[in-house]
Amino acid sequence: MVIVMTPTATPEDIEAIVGLVGAAGGEAFVSRGVSRTIIGLIGDVERFAALNLGGQRGVAEVMRVSTPYKLVSRENHPERSTVRVGGVPIGPETVTLIAGPCAVETPQQTLAAAEMAKAAGATLLRGGAFKPRTSPYAFQGLGEAGLRILADVREQTGLPIVTEVVDAHDVPLVASYADMLQVGTRNTQNFALLQAVGKAGKPVMLKRGMSGTIDEWLMSAEYIAQRGNLDIVLCERGIRTFETATRNTLDVSAVPVAQRLSHLPVIIDPSHSGGRRDLVLPLTRAALAVGADGVIIDVHPHPEQALCDGPQALVTEDLPALAQTMQTFSPLMNRTLVSQTLCQSARPPQSLV
Ligand code: PEP
Ligand code: MN
Repeated sequence: MVIVMTPTATPEDIEAIVGLVGAAGGEAFVSRGVSRTIIGLIGDVERFAALNLGGQRGVAEVMRVSTPYKLVSRENHPERSTVRVGGVPIGPETVTLIAGPCAVETPQQTLAAAEMAKAAGATLLRGGAFKPRTSPYAFQGLGEAGLRILADVREQTGLPIVTEVVDAHDVPLVASYADMLQVGTRNTQNFALLQAVGKAGKPVMLKRGMSGTIDEWLMSAEYIAQRGNLDIVLCERGIRTFETATRNTLDVSAVPVAQRLSHLPVIIDPSHSGGRRDLVLPLTRAALAVGADGVIIDVHPHPEQALCDGPQALVTEDLPALAQTMQTFSPLMNRTLVSQTLCQSARPPQSLV
């Protein structure tokens, strides 16, 4: 940690800081410049944070030199991580396509959407049984009945499932069905939920808060990691800006920034970013070009009847273009598109499981 003093700071102000830091068990190194003094601190940053150093007389600025997140930081873990979801990799060497309906509505609709996902080359199935809706009058999801549908569709298609959990109390239930737990944008700072998914023993997809900074997002990931779970995939899904032509503004910079700060994989959700079917493919191309480790995309057999997010769901006619985009862009980025055959050959034979 570094403290920059104001040009008018007195020797007493500087001594007061040195005294406070010493009393907190740290060491303070004072460098006097021509117009300003800088104090470098060594010791427990969390204890320094409690000293209100920024509020002391003569202090202009307090800066952290090391990142406040430790377990998810790349500082302590330079190699980028690969997270495996039911045998499917998400990481720096590959591109992973996750697709499925926004919400599980019926067994037929979920199976049809899963078949669409498969036709586009997806290796993981998305679908919400617990939906975090802005309006209490909107469809809230089928709950456990939806989880059972997902489990049946996994059985029928072989696709592992990614599904959202919205309440800490539901984590054991959702984790008993899911291959990956999704924490949505409205819950990125629901710390009790983050701690609960950290203990659930399943990989987690953590979306970025719609009004959250990248640092806040990584601190949320740290909550999960701190409970013993480092199998976390970050998902950029668009942020709130003044723009109203799109549902959210896709922050493509978040991918290389988060990948530089953290070893965790980073994927993009082009469906919830743009909120419009016609934007999904252009935003998917942007995601792959910027180095995302995967994309998560809404598909629906009958979006006009969808109970949630129909306008952004791809339809059957869009799937060849999606598959083509994934196949063309992945090698351009020196990555392998994760395919169903790749995952099957990587899985141990059933008799050994
Ligand atoms: C979703 O993926 O269905 C969802 C609710 O996403 P977000 O949390 O990004 O809005
Ligand atoms: Mn949705």
